[in-house]
Amino acid sequence: MHISTTPSDHPVADERLTEILANPGFGTHFTDHMFTVEWTPDGGWHDARVTPYGPLTLDPATAVLHYAQETFEGMKAYRHDDGSVWTFRPEANAARMARSSHRLALPVLPEEDFVAAVDALVTQDQRWVPDSQGEKSLYVRPFMFASETFLGVRPAQHVTFMVICSPAGAYFKGGVKPVTLWLTEEYTRAGRGGMGAAKTGGNYASSLVAQQEAIGQGCDQVVFLDAQEGRYVEELGGMNLYFVHADGRIVTPETGTILEGITRSSIIELAGKLGHPVEERKLSIDEWRDGVASGDIVEIFACGTAAVVTPVGSLRWDGGEAPAPASTDLTMELRQSLVDIQYGRAEDPFGWMHRVC
Ligand SMILES: *Cc1c(COP(=O)(O)O)cnc(C)c1O
Repeated sequence: MHISTTPSDHPVADERLTEILANPGFGTHFTDHMFTVEWTPDGGWHDARVTPYGPLTLDPATAVLHYAQETFEGMKAYRHDDGSVWTFRPEANAARMARSSHRLALPVLPEEDFVAAVDALVTQDQRWVPDSQGEKSLYVRPFMFASETFLGVRPAQHVTFMVICSPAGAYFKGGVKPVTLWLTEEYTRAGRGGMGAAKTGGNYASSLVAQQEAIGQGCDQVVFLDAQEGRYVEELGGMNLYFVHADGRIVTPETGTILEGITRSSIIELAGKLGHPVEERKLSIDEWRDGVASGDIVEIFACGTAAVVTPVGSLRWDGGEAPAPASTDLTMELRQSLVDIQYGRAEDPFGWMHRVC
């Protein structure tokens, strides 16, 4: 893939950038450039370019606005102490986007082109990667959408893949603290044969009303159960779940209708190496309640790119509550191990880190 570059003639001034990077928040500031490549059935992927960041002009009949044919990814670029910039398992994001795109009847962007696109943009905007103090990073958002102007219902014949970047502050400002969860018994996230395993905006659209309910109940996040029996724990709106047992065994819900997090799969490997085998299987909501009550479940945590690993506190539902599990020791150990690899402070025995520049 040949990538052309048109540098911005109005990049953010150094002084303003310093101000932004001191307190970036999440998803509100965007870098000076963006990456775009387009696809048509005849031309394949073509016209790859890094251009100044700016709004898109879309015809009101652009297909994605009507039928939500869209996939996305979320990953981070980390600055190491020697000034170099690295991404974490970018080929895993590329492979997942390929699986998501297949499910959404979108064309597949080859893995090496996905990684090259992210590398090109992050290199161009490397001054936007915050220093490693306080778990800051550059959040990278690749996405693909049906850009054909057509209201008929069929896979789009014109597709656009883009990458944008946004500096991100630490997810937890005053130190890591447990999230409280609301169990929704009314809404589900995904059913068998649906698109629960795909990273697509529609899954988030369908989770918002449940998340809103959780906030209304004074909780941080919502927990979804399986759609068929309403019995098995799936995941949160955007994070996977882990259950640590008193004997050191760890259980995480099996895949199929959940989104397979890259943090999730990294923790399976990391925990194994630390002597905690991980079982992937169904875990019922009764097992959660009873396990915490009996002390058999000693820790629960959630994981995803944004928060890395976060302890789970109490679980509430209509008419009841399960208290927070007793400990957060292994949760915090796994969190630290992962963060240390990402920021280059520990060895990377798995070969997960990819140097960008
Ligand atoms: C992205 C996402 C996750 C976490 O995946 P990571 O690759 O670990 O960031 C979990 N659940 C859902 C629904 C997601 O969209």
